[in-house]
Amino acid sequence: MTTDLLQIEMQKVPQSRIKEVDFNNLPFGKHFSDHMFVADYVDGEWTDLRIVPFSDFSFNPALSSLHYGQSIFEGLKAYKNEAGDVLTFRARDNWARMNESAKRMCMATIPEEVFMGGLEALLRTDADWVPNQAGSSLYIRPYMFATDVFLGVAPSKTYRFCIFTCPVGVYYAKPLKVKVELDYIRSAPGGVGYAKCAGNYAGSMYPTLLAQQAGYDQLIWTDATDHQYIEESGTMNVMFIIDGKLVTPATSDSILRGVTRDSIVQIARSWGITVEERKVSINEVIEGIQNGSVTEAFGAGTAVVVSPFQAIGYEGTDYMLPERAPADSFAVRVKDYMTDLRTGKIDDPFGWAV
Ligand code: PMP
Repeated sequence: MTTDLLQIEMQKVPQSRIKEVDFNNLPFGKHFSDHMFVADYVDGEWTDLRIVPFSDFSFNPALSSLHYGQSIFEGLKAYKNEAGDVLTFRARDNWARMNESAKRMCMATIPEEVFMGGLEALLRTDADWVPNQAGSSLYIRPYMFATDVFLGVAPSKTYRFCIFTCPVGVYYAKPLKVKVELDYIRSAPGGVGYAKCAGNYAGSMYPTLLAQQAGYDQLIWTDATDHQYIEESGTMNVMFIIDGKLVTPATSDSILRGVTRDSIVQIARSWGITVEERKVSINEVIEGIQNGSVTEAFGAGTAVVVSPFQAIGYEGTDYMLPERAPADSFAVRVKDYMTDLRTGKIDDPFGWAV
């Protein structure tokens, strides 16, 4: 998709802020690149497509997204290859997922050319902000929120779509201690768990805080019906190596369809590893840790790629995962492989890096 087909107004910053940023020391989500892409949905159409300096929005106190939560987002990353070209990874999948979220939240959907064209134009404008240091990347945040000024619980008729970006540094994924959550839920059948809507994240914070106060890093969410089956962990999908097979909860309306999850499933299959996408019960995992059949457990998501679990806390007991040498670890192997794909170090048989 070339951006020439789209009419995008361009207003560039008089002076870049890039020199103010230490690219060797990048905290997550604190430094924002010079520009952002913005479009407004008015009278049934996406209009006023523009690239403007990253700056404040002003809003009316009655802005409906602030009250009733029609607000969705995406997260993906761009990398530089050795030649200095900017590569995105499966960005079209983020566009498709954003529209799934939009439909569930009764919001306007975004045409592919607006999402992909806006993204491409923004990355071209701020290409210098894509780090080339090993492990660093440009985090990309597309999001959309309702802009009607109206106090009434009804779908907004107007929306704003925006994409901004932040250079981010190496994410040191220390092995996590996760707690199986048996009281609170993240999502339920018929609910909104598969959507990347803002409220899902707000609702997860209090139970996560309680787990952190009890000494854990993150939660493992269980099903809303009887808390027997594993769903997700924090903002990651969950995967296990059981008897040498890659086992992961099947996606449903209560589980987000992670792009990383799907990538790992496809990579594992291409390596000849058996993959099972199905219900995974806590009992199966706890028993498997005890009898040695569960050799790895990890979260999968854009931010970390994979994040190994060191211990799973269940009903007051911490079950320790075996330590694995990096050479024996599927999680390490797939993480390295995905990093090489995303940075264009190896040929990409899947066509994901663009
Ligand atoms: N689950 C949830 C709830 C998430 O927020 C995320 C992050 N988007 C994921 C899983 C992982 O998805 P992805 O691999 O697309 O980043």
